[in-house]
Amino acid sequence: MTREFTCIICPNSCRINVSYERTEDPASPLRIQEVSGNLCARGKGYVLQELTDPRRTISTSVAVEGGELPLASVRLTDPIPRDRIFDAMAVIRPLTVKAPVRAGNVLVHDLLGLGTDVLVTKDVAAH
Ligand code: SF4
Repeated sequence: MTREFTCIICPNSCRINVSYERTEDPASPLRIQEVSGNLCARGKGYVLQELTDPRRTISTSVAVEGGELPLASVRLTDPIPRDRIFDAMAVIRPLTVKAPVRAGNVLVHDLLGLGTDVLVTKDVAAH
């Protein structure tokens, strides 16, 4: 089978075609036949990850109580499996932090046991 991906690793946005077969071997579930269109090796790594364990990160914001701004931006420290994004947002969306908030503060350690933290990326002073 073949699939086309747009690589999101860098701004070149290469369109990468991959031909592969699924195997019965859980240790090696894909047999890659051809990868084309990638300008560098990172693109091949990207499509292999997408085919076997697609991951995404989250950048969003949380409410700030008593701050000069109503929201503080946050992000995950590491990408999580794509099918856990909604679960992760269900934890992050209701969060409220008290000002002052500092970039680098960790709001949630090991979110859902996924090995990623929720990190503040913007200072918000108290008013
Ligand atoms: S394949 Fe390489 S050059 Fe192309 S978008 Fe991906 S990282 Fe960038």
